Amino acid sequence: MSIQPFLSTAEMPPPTLARRPIDDSPPPPPPPRPEPSEPHGALHLVLAYLPLPDLIAFHRVCTQFRDAVAGDLLLWRDVSVEPPLSGRLTDEALLEITSRADGRLRSLALVGCPRVSDAGILRVARLNRGISKLCVPGCTYLTANGIVRVVKELTERNNNLKHLKVHGISNMTKGHLEVLKSCITRNLTQGHDQSTPFTYAYWRSLPSNSDGVRPIDIDICPKCRNTGLVFECTRESCQSMQGRWTECKACYFCIARCEDCGGCIDFDEPGEETACSHFLCLDCWLRLPKCNLCNRPYCERHERFHGSNGFICEQCLFG
Ligand SMILES: [Zn+2]
Ligand SMILES: [Zn+2]
Ligand SMILES: [Zn+2]
Ligand SMILES: [Zn+2]
Ligand SMILES: [Zn+2]
Repeated sequence: MSIQPFLSTAEMPPPTLARRPIDDSPPPPPPPRPEPSEPHGALHLVLAYLPLPDLIAFHRVCTQFRDAVAGDLLLWRDVSVEPPLSGRLTDEALLEITSRADGRLRSLALVGCPRVSDAGILRVARLNRGISKLCVPGCTYLTANGIVRVVKELTERNNNLKHLKVHGISNMTKGHLEVLKSCITRNLTQGHDQSTPFTYAYWRSLPSNSDGVRPIDIDICPKCRNTGLVFECTRESCQSMQGRWTECKACYFCIARCEDCGGCIDFDEPGEETACSHFLCLDCWLRLPKCNLCNRPYCERHERFHGSNGFICEQCLFG
């Protein structure tokens, strides 16, 4: 085999102008195109691990890949749309993507999809009554009434729906939540794992499209009585003192939580000022590396400022 094709043009010898004899005969016909062969079996194994954007990209590569992706129903039973694809997802696109499961959609996770409407998601629910997990956090166009209609649709005639993630849906009242709870708990044959406390740190560690320890992610805050994510505290002092423990269960607006450990923030304690806009408890504040100039730490979310010997925060650097 010649290595000539692997040489760059700079290394290639200059073309020689050889004199060719004049030939009037027509050029030979091109060789016949090879018959498309079956894709390698390994392709199907790979496809099973691809997220939705990669599956869509694969679909466009060639007819072989398109047929392999479109023909494998199992690839489309768990649909998860996350940023940056979320902003472009319309009702029509959602219907098209979910129709590939041929009515056997198992889970649908739409994370922050602002263009998906109640009607769009209801249409998908009517065509896929076996959905067991529905995650629509931050889908701002959806309404609480719309979610209730979808959940009723999914639970009226079967008992598959077990997980619901709806935080960020506006105007969700206590009444809406009670209807959702009654629909979902009807479906739960066994008690859910309540041993893992639902803390802010635990919630932050979950991928946005995964189900958590609770059948429904939101609850009623004991302090403000609004619906939302209600966190338990990770502070040992709060957990050991029974009274404080119940007091220290609330939504993020009622009790601020440390970005790293999920413990409650006591604003009377000195020294929690951070270089980012996130809150840190005193213990985490003391533990984290600080800016060489202003002595403020970044929380763990800003990984590039950790692990080095020292750093200068962006505010000190750019003013
Ligand atoms: Zn609250
Ligand atoms: Zn902390
Ligand atoms: Zn606490
Ligand atoms: Zn600084
Ligand atoms: Zn931060």
